[in-house]
Amino acid sequence: MKKINQFINGKEHLSKSSRFGDIFNPAKGEKIGEVSFANKDDVQLAIDSARAAFPSWAQTPPLTRSRILFKFKELILRDMDKLALELTNEHGKILSDSTGSVTRGMEVVEFACGIPHLLKGEFSENVGSAIDSWSIRQPLGISVGISPFNFPAMVPMWMFVISIACGNCFILKPSEKDPSVPMMLAELLKEAGLPDGVFNVINGDKEAVDLLITDPHIESVSFVGSTPVAEYIYHTSSKHNKRVQSLGGAKNHMVVMPDADLDQVIDGLIGAGYGSAGERCMALSVAVAVGDVGDRLIEKLTPRVQSLKVGPGTDPEVEMGPLISKVHLQKVQSYVDKGVSEGADLLVDGRSIALQGYEDGYFIGGCLFDNVKQDMTIYKEEIFGPVLSVVRQQSFDDALNLINDHEFGNGTTIYTRDGDTARSFTNQCKIGMVGVNVPIPVPMAFHSFGGWKRSLFGDHAMHGMDGVRFFTKLKTITSRWPTGIRKGAEFIIPTMK
Ligand code: NAD
Repeated sequence: MKKINQFINGKEHLSKSSRFGDIFNPAKGEKIGEVSFANKDDVQLAIDSARAAFPSWAQTPPLTRSRILFKFKELILRDMDKLALELTNEHGKILSDSTGSVTRGMEVVEFACGIPHLLKGEFSENVGSAIDSWSIRQPLGISVGISPFNFPAMVPMWMFVISIACGNCFILKPSEKDPSVPMMLAELLKEAGLPDGVFNVINGDKEAVDLLITDPHIESVSFVGSTPVAEYIYHTSSKHNKRVQSLGGAKNHMVVMPDADLDQVIDGLIGAGYGSAGERCMALSVAVAVGDVGDRLIEKLTPRVQSLKVGPGTDPEVEMGPLISKVHLQKVQSYVDKGVSEGADLLVDGRSIALQGYEDGYFIGGCLFDNVKQDMTIYKEEIFGPVLSVVRQQSFDDALNLINDHEFGNGTTIYTRDGDTARSFTNQCKIGMVGVNVPIPVPMAFHSFGGWKRSLFGDHAMHGMDGVRFFTKLKTITSRWPTGIRKGAEFIIPTMK
């Protein structure tokens, strides 16, 4: 049985803590390892090693940092199959999806390889007579990242890759549910030539998180996870004077207009609603059928949901793996129960699925509800499972208002052939990431990822230029050279002539 420890100062660190968490293979429902939960001494050691590494890393030329990232990218490609398999073993998603998610993380590395260019500042000559002024961006110090279970490679890479490219040192607190892949990434960074102490992994739970986000030596906190925790992290870290980007939960709607290409709509809903068993923050969990499209949509969608191939993520024929844990399975099942008791029509019921050889796995089949109403629990709350709700609305305006009234604002999409409708939608929706005939409009690494409303607390989204801004602070220098011009003391606020 594997034992996951801490990664501090370039090597595995054995904690003296007696606390640990169990790691499961969700397809089999069996324990496959344990992860040590860091104590105060471990957290202190990680902070000390990051502090010791920071001065020299901050002064390392961006081009040198970029070359380490180039090497890191090569190593990710070399180990792609191993990373994906470990990810599937602990998370459950299908292997091709695991590979895709590591690739999305690697794209952030590719973006950050351009850090010498991205960090170029601004220069103004002659802001006054023989006076020049320029602005540069310098690293913050030590950054902390706290990540969720559903993307154990990609989400940490959104954070730490940009942070270290900008010259910071980083402490990652990954999810305790699937901690192996972050540890593998730490080893790859070391192999790529990253100096010891620049990247550290603290495994653990709330105890480690609270120590990190209140420590005076931590400059920034990046969080991705559920909204209640995101809000707590934002408030606590801000109170301790840290820069914070804190991303929370979601309820993503697809608007289906009557003129949409229904085959494209169905493909989009199946992939984005049920892919990764709905455990994606950009999963589509609500289809808003506008006007008379509802019956046609249901007719085509129902058989596709019924025929979803559910099974272990390592089987190449399978389309949807298990949920992450028994507790989460029970939570998703109870949402389906609630949907039925609140009066929605359950057209496809995946609750009683049984898979030969995987009887203890955390499986649920695809579920489909019709006639879901705005005040129902399954509409209001994030389920984070393979449960799609169809809500019927009379008009485009009703659909738009529905989306804008929801507490979450992560992603949305509209399917239509009408350019005016699409433009009105992208212009008026109160959502951070918007698609037009695209089911999961996840911004690429060179754009930035982030929602609105209670899906993001803070001012900055992840990666892209928002990431570079978040992980650097601005310094503006005004300089007169040579010093020959003497005007004597001035008793007014200096004005440039
Ligand atoms: P979670 O909030 O339970 O945990 C996230 C991280 O916070 C983990 O590392 C966990 O150990 C830590 N944590 C949990 N409770 C804590 C507490 N009380 N105090 C301090 N730290 C705590 O989330 P999860 O179940 O791992 O992930 C699923 C959630 O993440 C979903 O809500 C999903 O929408 C969200 N998510 C959002 C995005 C996004 O970009 N907005 C991306 C991925 C996942």
